[in-house]
Amino acid sequence: MEKPKTPRPSEVLIPRPLVIVDTPGFFNLATSSIMFDHVLEQESHLAAIQLGSAIHADSLKIRTETTSSIQLRIRVETEALNECAFRIEITPLHILCESSTAEGIWHAVQILRQLAMTYGNNIPCCTICDGPHYGYRGLMLDCSRHYFSSDFITSLIDMISMLRMNRFHWHLTDDQGWRFPVKTFPNLEDVGAWRSENSLRVGGVYSHKEIQDIVAYAQKRHVMVIPEIDMPGHTTAALAAYPDLGCTKGPYHVPTTWGIFEDVLCAGSNHIIRFMEETYGELANCFTSAYVHIGGDECPTVRWKSCTACNELMHRERLRNIESIQGWFTRQAINIISGLNKKAIAWDEVLESIDPERDTNKLTIMAWRGHKRCQKAVSAGFDVISSLKDDGCYLDYRHTADRHERGNIGITTVRQSYDFSPMKPEDSVYQEQFIGGQGNLWTEYITDPEEAQYMLFPRLCAISEALWLPVEKKDYDSFVRRWHHHAKRLEALNIRYYQGEL
Ligand SMILES: [Zn+2]
Repeated sequence: MEKPKTPRPSEVLIPRPLVIVDTPGFFNLATSSIMFDHVLEQESHLAAIQLGSAIHADSLKIRTETTSSIQLRIRVETEALNECAFRIEITPLHILCESSTAEGIWHAVQILRQLAMTYGNNIPCCTICDGPHYGYRGLMLDCSRHYFSSDFITSLIDMISMLRMNRFHWHLTDDQGWRFPVKTFPNLEDVGAWRSENSLRVGGVYSHKEIQDIVAYAQKRHVMVIPEIDMPGHTTAALAAYPDLGCTKGPYHVPTTWGIFEDVLCAGSNHIIRFMEETYGELANCFTSAYVHIGGDECPTVRWKSCTACNELMHRERLRNIESIQGWFTRQAINIISGLNKKAIAWDEVLESIDPERDTNKLTIMAWRGHKRCQKAVSAGFDVISSLKDDGCYLDYRHTADRHERGNIGITTVRQSYDFSPMKPEDSVYQEQFIGGQGNLWTEYITDPEEAQYMLFPRLCAISEALWLPVEKKDYDSFVRRWHHHAKRLEALNIRYYQGEL
């Protein structure tokens, strides 16, 4: 029988680099050491640990001599990079990684890490010229419907960073649990973070220390953590903690069922602005990201209609109708966020009630209900992040129609995730406003880390490649072959994944 051919580097990486050329020979990792430019100290130390661990050895040595065999270099004269965001050259004598940015070097290191996990000590030689097609390549995790530990979150950030993704959108609040402590509103963590299920107290909060540690962990891996505090809908947990924030004044309970709830924040409440200011202000203290996500999705108006305080506010603020209260909320949130020197992101529902003229510089739209919403956002002048539920981005949906398959009502096949593209050919005039996309893992039906991993892989890998490569460079059959190598890497890290048909 013919011995199976050892795959070449061009056949094992996810996402596939833009240009990769396999060359003869092997580089020996175990006897190597790393040398770096001084601005790359952080990247180099982590690289030494990750590459050592990939070959089941101690951290690689870090040296200052230029004779070191792995060199990480910042190139100021970018023309030398030939328009790559980064270059890698692996020869039998050395590995050279060059980029004009530390982020580019980090992505190069993640490629070396994947190669080391596949080949061990002897890495086949190749040259790579690479860079991402979209700047925003993200994953959202819902930690309200089910609470996930900070250890799980950091492991996930490590996984997305290995896929050269760079945004972690952290859905921290919803009806079923408020996970972010606000000092001046202590009931949020004492009441809003917990629900009663079969007489068990279920839920949790993240301490500011835990959050800061997660943010720092992600920052080292060039991943921006974007927090979301969802308002004015999906706020029953906040109302249970502070009934004065609602139109009927309660009593409210943190629900144990899913869906869209009629009780939402009351625009006429005396405490509403202070509540928003304190919450977003404290958020800005914990998170270093340029963005804060303000939610804005699925907000019924039925309570506002019959609320005297909301009607008074509508007249006082000269709003067109009661539905415009959603626009009023969005404006308050945008003003607070821009006062904190950050930019807001909101779900596409807010497009129906805001004034584009005033807001395009301060707000980015996250579209989920169909590509038409992306087009509406860009034609109104907004930047858009695409995370469309029916186009491969909803990773809580089942992998197939098989009713035994776990997950929520819809279906997202691996192929759909791979075929996802934020932009369609007709959108080319708005190219600069399509900043990227993300996969969303809602967790109504995902209760623990193993289930979350099962839903994420390989679909998140497919999305990472869909956002990394231009459409014409994508190739699903090649992706499926390369996925089997990535699956081995996940196995080595004890991470579960979907094993059905691709
Ligand atoms: Zn009201």
